[in-house]
Amino acid sequence: MTEPTTDSWDALLRQRGYRITPQRQLVLAAVNELQHGTPEEILTVVQRTAAAVNLSTVYRTLEVLQEVGVITHAHIGHGAPVFHALEEATHIHLVCEECGKVTSIDAAVARPFIEAMRDLVGFETDVGHVSIHGRCSDCQTAATHE
Ligand SMILES: [Zn+2]
Ligand SMILES: [Zn+2]
Ligand SMILES: [Zn+2]
Repeated sequence: MTEPTTDSWDALLRQRGYRITPQRQLVLAAVNELQHGTPEEILTVVQRTAAAVNLSTVYRTLEVLQEVGVITHAHIGHGAPVFHALEEATHIHLVCEECGKVTSIDAAVARPFIEAMRDLVGFETDVGHVSIHGRCSDCQTAATHE
């Protein structure tokens, strides 16, 4: 037996005793394709290939993929969480409260903040999990020209 050299998604699943099923493969492919897909959006993509898959199957599959560490989720708006593939670099979502536009920025910009949390209270901040709300530059420009 050789150790898997990469943490590929199928290796991660097998390590935890999960089988590689077409459904899991399709859901992961949909997460990758959509980048910020909600469970409903992921279902729509999966159903292009497998029409019989329903929403509760998608939810269960997302839970498994998340548990083994293949995907993560984040909260962008007030609705359902969105899902990311783990290969994506950790980023922070900036959400405009006026037009709803979502801008992604590298989580590295939050390093001083993360370090401050650790120094002050020993807290390890999962900075990609929530989004920062405010007003995008377009909406600010529009407001000044009114
Ligand atoms: Zn994102
Ligand atoms: Zn969450
Ligand atoms: Zn805006």
